[in-house]
Parts: sequence; structure tokens; C-alpha cells
Amino acid sequence: MFKLKLHWQILIALLFGVIAGTLIQREFGLDAKETVYVGILKFLGNTVFIGLLKMVIVPLIFSSIVAGIAGRKKSRGFGRLGMKTLGYYMLTSSVAILIGLSIVNLMKPGLVDGQPNPELVKFMSENSAEFEKKGELVGKDATGLQDKPHPLGVVGSLIERMIPENVFQSASDNGSMLSLIFISLITAFGLLSLQGQAVETVTDLIIGVNELMIKITGWIMKLAPLGVFGLMGWTISQTGPSFLFSMSKYMFSVILALGIHFFIVLPLMLFLLAKVNPINHFSAMKEALLTSFSTASSSATLPVTLKCLQQNAGVSKRVSSFVLPLGATVNMDGTALYECVAVLFIAQVMGITLDFSAQLSIVILALLTSIGVAGVPSASLVAIVIILQNVVVADAKLEGAFAAIGAIYAVDRILDMCRTSVNVFSDSCGAVIVARSEGENLLLGGPERN
Ligand code: ASP
Repeated sequence: MFKLKLHWQILIALLFGVIAGTLIQREFGLDAKETVYVGILKFLGNTVFIGLLKMVIVPLIFSSIVAGIAGRKKSRGFGRLGMKTLGYYMLTSSVAILIGLSIVNLMKPGLVDGQPNPELVKFMSENSAEFEKKGELVGKDATGLQDKPHPLGVVGSLIERMIPENVFQSASDNGSMLSLIFISLITAFGLLSLQGQAVETVTDLIIGVNELMIKITGWIMKLAPLGVFGLMGWTISQTGPSFLFSMSKYMFSVILALGIHFFIVLPLMLFLLAKVNPINHFSAMKEALLTSFSTASSSATLPVTLKCLQQNAGVSKRVSSFVLPLGATVNMDGTALYECVAVLFIAQVMGITLDFSAQLSIVILALLTSIGVAGVPSASLVAIVIILQNVVVADAKLEGAFAAIGAIYAVDRILDMCRTSVNVFSDSCGAVIVARSEGENLLLGGPERN
């Protein structure tokens, strides 16, 4: 029987989702949310597809890290692997932020003739009731986060998030990815340092669990076309065309900056550092990229990213199971770039000029907060509020920024889909570069390593 490859099925589903969403939006306008059609789309995409992906995250991450390390029987070189990985994360995120900074200063999406764009200001004040409500909600989340600043700063709070008070609690919470990675690493090295039949049985058991989780991920992906159809339809049905139009220059700046990073910087790094053909890598990552685009969540995409990288790109479990889970939480190039553009855009619309040192603070905060942002939809908005509060506006004036934050929120989903794809793609490029530097021969071509 004629059977279309999975990525084509997903792509077609994506297009049908856009059509369905547009039709619903045309018919019901702002009331689309309440209709049964949107209910069905959301059920297919969010409840079923994303729900299933989230279901496998914890056992998959744990088992792949342990199997990847303890299944090798030799633990050497992990310090080196860690340093390379972190170096890659820092480098690419910084480049991404600088691209964002240059584009937003060049395009000035919030200004006309050096003044706040009057049309945007009018658009925001016309919708201020709705926008301020949304902005305040995001603001509240951010204050929740800021209530307990860590005495040792970002590093201190990262370490605190990494060490779990209770193993079972962090294993039952998809948000505690850092502590899950920490537990998995300790377990893996613990198993490696022991010997005996019992230890081998435990290791074999975890390797078996890992194979099982990869199998289940494959089954879930068979539902991807339905899920993607639902997610796209749901998203498009809720984004009114007038919002899109008013915010178009801002959206274009974000997409342009993300595009430069995605299509030029990362492929160039793949080519120069890993000596592989970027087109082969794009092709290997198709399913993961389509999934990240439609789910707007790097965490939910993680099982698919792992599968593509191991099965299509041929990256070893040792490297992929170390670099990817860490990357999905820590390495967010698209998010870092986006935060920078969004904060500067808000400053432009509010008529606030930022000098060099303020812009530098924004760059540093974007880098740090992108590490802390969770891999879930719209997570950057909270980071944006934090940066605004620290650099751009005093606490008292933050309320004035709520309408702008709300306006950004109204068009966030589409930009979120793009930046999440950049986040996921950057993680996957990191894994390829690290794997090649460790002497691996991949399925992506390039000179033989031995
Ligand atoms: N949705 C993004 C991700 O999951 C995070 C963000 O930028 O909001 O990677």
C-alpha cells in the first residue's frame, strides 16, 4: 500500500490545521475559544499528543542517561564532554542574543522617525483592557519567581534546583528536569563504579527500559499528524488577523533574527566544527523540528529529538543522552534572542532610550534567564518581565509596560513555535558537534574519524 513518510504526513496535517484554524477564526472571531471545534482541536493536540509525549519524558530521560553512560563500561571523558557541551551552549546563545540585539536596533520595530510608533501605541491603548489583564498575569508569575532571590545568585539557584530534596518528587514533575538529570548522572556513575551480578542486572534492566521508551515514543509519533493538526488549528483559530497586522514589524524582526541564527549561524557551525553537511542534518531532524514547531515546547519535543538524533543522525547514546536533556533546559538560543528583541521593542514603544550599559545588562540577563526558562510554551514571557523590571522600568512603572507585554502575549504563540524550533535545532547541532569532536562517525556524511 502507498504510504506517505511520516514527516510528509505531519507537514500536510500542519497545513490542514492552518486551514481549519483560519476557517474557525473567520466564522467565530474572538468567540472561537468557546466553540466545540476548538475544544476538539485542543483535545487532539494538547491533551492527547502533548500529553503522551510528556508521559514518556521522565522514564526516557532517566533511562537514556543511565544506559548511555553505564552501558558503556567506561566512564572516561565525561568531564571533557561536559566542558565542550557548556562551551557550545554559551557560545551559540551569546551569538543568538547579539543577532537579536543588532536586528532590533536596526529595524526599530517599535519606532517611527525615532518616536514610539503612534499606530502601535493606539493599538495597545485600544486593546488595553485585554492586554493589561494578560500582562498582569505574566507579571504575577514573574514576581512569584523573584520573591525568593538566591543569596548566591543565579549559580546558587541553579544548584538548588539541581539537588532534589526528594527523588520521587522530582521524578514525578516534568518541570524538575535539572534534578532529574542530576539523579540520572549520579546513578550512572554509581553503577559504573560497582561490580557484580546484581549491578549488571540493574544496568541491563535500565537499558531495557530505555529500549521500551524509544519504542513507545515511536508509537506516539504515529499520532503526530493528528496532534499537529489539532495544535495548529487551535493556535490559528485564536490569533486574530488584526493583532497580527499591527504587530507585523515586530514579528518580522523576531523571525528575521531567528532565521539568521537557524539558517546561517548554526549550519555554518555544523559545517566548520563538525565537518558535516547541514542539509543532511536538517533532513535527519525533520520530525523533531516539525514537532517543536507545533508544540512550542522543547521539553515535550525531547523524546522525538533524541529519537531523530540517534536513529537518523547516528549520534551515540553516550553523547546524545547527555547533551540533549541538558540542552532542552539550559540551552535556549531562540529564547535568549527573543527576550532581547522583545525587551528592546517594549522599551521603544514606551519611548525609553537605553544606553550601551543598559543594553549590555539586557544581553547578560537574557543569557542567564534563558538558562532558567522552562521548555514549555510562552515561558520566555516571565523572563521578559524580569528583565524589564531589572533594567528598563522601575517597579512602580512596570504597570505601564503591561499593555505592551499583553500585546506581545497576544501574538506569542507563532513566535514561540519559531523560537522553540531554534532551541531544539541548536541542541541537536551541539550534540553533532560534540559527537564529532569525540571521534564519532555519523550517518550525516563528512570525513571519516577514527
Ligand atoms: N517555548 C520555548 C521552549 O520550549 C520556551 C520559550 O521561549 O518560551 O523552548
